[in-house]
Amino acid sequence: MDFKTDVTIAQETTMKPIVEIAEKLGINDKAIEQYGKYKAKINELELTDLETKKDGKLILVTAITPTPAGEGKTTTVVGLGDGLQKIGKKAAVALREPSLGPVFGMKGGAAGGGYAQVVPMEDLNLHFTGDFHAISAANNLLAAMLDNHIHHGNALAIDTRNITWKRVVDMNDRQLRFIVDGLNGQTNGVPREDGFDITVASEIMAILCLSMDMEEMKEKLKQIIVGYSVAGQPVTAGDLKAHGAMAALLKEALKPNLVQTLEHTPAFVHGGPFANIAHGCNSIKATKLALKYADYVVTEAGFGADLGAEKFMDIKCRLSGLEPAAVVVVATVRALKMHGGMAKKELKEENVLVLEKGLPNLMKHIENMQTVFNMPTVVAINKFPTDTAKELALVKEKCEELGVNVVLSDVWENGGNGGQDLARAVVDVAEQKSMLTFAYELEDSVVDKMTKVVQKVYGGEGIVLAPGVKKELTRLEALGFGNLPICMAKTQYSFSDDKNKLGRPEEFIVTIKKVKVSAGAGFIVVLTGDIMTMPGLPKIPAAESIDVLADGRIIGLF
Ligand code: ADP
Ligand code: MG
Repeated sequence: MDFKTDVTIAQETTMKPIVEIAEKLGINDKAIEQYGKYKAKINELELTDLETKKDGKLILVTAITPTPAGEGKTTTVVGLGDGLQKIGKKAAVALREPSLGPVFGMKGGAAGGGYAQVVPMEDLNLHFTGDFHAISAANNLLAAMLDNHIHHGNALAIDTRNITWKRVVDMNDRQLRFIVDGLNGQTNGVPREDGFDITVASEIMAILCLSMDMEEMKEKLKQIIVGYSVAGQPVTAGDLKAHGAMAALLKEALKPNLVQTLEHTPAFVHGGPFANIAHGCNSIKATKLALKYADYVVTEAGFGADLGAEKFMDIKCRLSGLEPAAVVVVATVRALKMHGGMAKKELKEENVLVLEKGLPNLMKHIENMQTVFNMPTVVAINKFPTDTAKELALVKEKCEELGVNVVLSDVWENGGNGGQDLARAVVDVAEQKSMLTFAYELEDSVVDKMTKVVQKVYGGEGIVLAPGVKKELTRLEALGFGNLPICMAKTQYSFSDDKNKLGRPEEFIVTIKKVKVSAGAGFIVVLTGDIMTMPGLPKIPAAESIDVLADGRIIGLF
């Protein structure tokens, strides 16, 4: 069977003017700042009705342990939003903004897929409203001020061998990972080892997503640690007097963006932090705004539920007071078959035996949502064209045997129509009384926090600290960072820290390789492996097939 490409489907749709979408939500005209006809930023300072409005229900979409292709969380978010709208609910979706890196690297969109997409998808994937460029600029202003300070005498006695702040660019460019800069003599800076990260890995991205307003963002920017002095004391953006100018660059980026789905469901798309060294979900501001104007808001957390949902609850919800009414765990037949031991290139073949062997992965994620976080949970089987009826029936039957709510979701092929059953199931479970619980308490020691996540969420035995980690923890606790939440950076392909351990591994120990504080964002990053913060392009980058026609139409974008 031949399927239309995402960009073709997107371009065949007639979008509604963004003012009409805002009107549907009841957002006051004055608050709408248009970026062309189909995109807008919402200026909350113009919204006078916020205080009195009741919040809608928040639905978190997460997934089983994924395969490298992604299991369809974003697609499910969009299709569920459209499905809720189809059954007569006032719904909105709240998603992350795509980064340019993956757009030109591997094929695969970040605005959903098939008939469940956010539009205008070309804009969304390329520049959008410029938020990421503003974040790059703020990040690089801080880097420039830091090196300038050192050049002009280094009054803060910054140790140039212990600088932690990197420059960023929103591109997959491995050439910039490790560099030496400041070369060519006295007038051209101070030579030092340096490097670039991709913009989504910037701490400023996480800060923007965790700030409720300008004052809070400025305070967080001020706390950013850029490096350490010769005496080992942290040097901050505040010490360099950079935070005010950085905030000025971020003034517009802080305002949530509004666009629409193919079926005109309002879509708040704002912020996009990495899901490993950061918390991996859209901004608190956009989520809260959406909840004020919609009765159901569907959102996503990056990677599988062991990483994404855990950080959504333990970082984003804890900080903001947000609380989901229900969680949707996306599962696919192909990923379950991989967890059952099938090779990647055979995944298109029917095989119910292997499929059944992969189910424990799904079950562990469901258990986590229900017992660790106390959330009403629905499984959405994201139907792929290669799935057979027998396979789909098996997943359903096995879930039902265990008393799990399970629904077939066919939104990729059928949009909102294919998401109505899921929508009804979600509305149903969201009526249950729930009270979010966390995997750990902030008062726990950092070692206890890590241990609790590994034992409760990953299902491992415990942790072991690599040499040097203990000393670093003592130092971070002495500096007053001991009560921050932790942000686990782990492979997304396994519950364990070994990407080859598929399914539901047991009796494993997670090695903590490194810990570092993101003092501005307000979490301790726990690294359990080598985490790439500047990806590279593949041998044949997606960029080779992207083009723009004389009429301005973009082709080859997914
Ligand atoms: P995630 O958010 O989990 O990373 P996405 O929703 O972005 O996943 O989907 C990843 C890729 O898989 C996209 O290219 C999307 O179009 C495709 N995809 C998702 N669901 C389906 C489906 N049911 N059938 C075919 N392709 C799908
Ligand atoms: Mg996604």
